[in-house]
Amino acid sequence: MAKSEFDIIKQYFAHQQQQRDDVVLAIGDDCALVDVPANYHVAVSTDSLVAGTHFLADADPALVAYKALASNISDLAAMGATPAWVSLALTLPTIDEAWLAPFCHSFFELANRYNIQLIGGDTTKGPLSITLTVQGLVPQGQALTRSGAQVGDDIYVTGNLGDSAAGLALILNQSQCEPSLAAVLVERHFKAQPRVNVGEALRGIASAALDISDGVIADVKHIGDRSQVAIEIDVEKLPVSADLLTFCNGDRQQAQQLALTSGEEYELCFTVSKANRDALAMALAHTNVKYSCIGQVTTGRGLSLLQLGKPLSWKLSGWDHFGVTNN
Ligand code: ADP
Ligand code: MG
Repeated sequence: MAKSEFDIIKQYFAHQQQQRDDVVLAIGDDCALVDVPANYHVAVSTDSLVAGTHFLADADPALVAYKALASNISDLAAMGATPAWVSLALTLPTIDEAWLAPFCHSFFELANRYNIQLIGGDTTKGPLSITLTVQGLVPQGQALTRSGAQVGDDIYVTGNLGDSAAGLALILNQSQCEPSLAAVLVERHFKAQPRVNVGEALRGIASAALDISDGVIADVKHIGDRSQVAIEIDVEKLPVSADLLTFCNGDRQQAQQLALTSGEEYELCFTVSKANRDALAMALAHTNVKYSCIGQVTTGRGLSLLQLGKPLSWKLSGWDHFGVTNN
């Protein structure tokens, strides 16, 4: 007999994880119940992935699950929140267990790594799509918003930028390179790591933060707009990996273009006052995550690109619609 929606929920989603102590009631009732500690906010974020728009319908379900959950966890990290609970609304054209098994395996592996528990959801029939609502905890008054940047603050990013775009170009067959390097860059695209420990460490130190999902040049503008300040990025300060430089045959300018526009990095971009510079170094020392100062918050509005403090010697093509000034 064909399996019902209830069989599927029971087999694939219920009791697949270690229970968190703060989950009073998980999958199986009309609602989940969770305990929220006193003096904490719940940070909530939802994202949908739709087949044909955000991934190909025949994409590896393990990678789809990773992408769906990692991008949502990255939003919690960007807020300075600690991941706690997640709900999953899954729409499937058919009950396809060859798809569900690797999807769930990958989903729960990542969920366990970040101690985020699946507490409920919905399972429906229709065109393939995945909607996650994640919830995390952040001490009241310490969430990292986009609106707190102040003139004079330094702008930082974690990790390296650009590897994900290089990996995507390889996946889409728009570029070629030596196979072992290609494998590294493709892995960086598919398995970018949300920076939860950095977000937690930045509480009380960063004035603004967000995660890089559309490319630092597009994302940092949100901090400028929400904080009503201008942003200056020095392209020579963008952190690029040795692998990316090899991929670009040593062409720094090409690597910098990729670093500016690469999406789905899940690196954090944040602003910190000069007074907090030493506190930042102390706070991030234990995370083992590299971070780099890439620019300054200044008076005015908009985003300008510099090269060693001087006007850029090249033009960033195709980004006029972001209102970038190449000065
Ligand atoms: P209801 O009719 O009350 O919406 P459902 O039959 O949709 O309940 O779901 C039964 C239980 O299973 C609920 O607790 C719901 O949260 C959970 N659930 C359904 N689908 C999923 C899913 N894909 N992942 C996790 N939990 C799910
Ligand atoms: Mg339902």
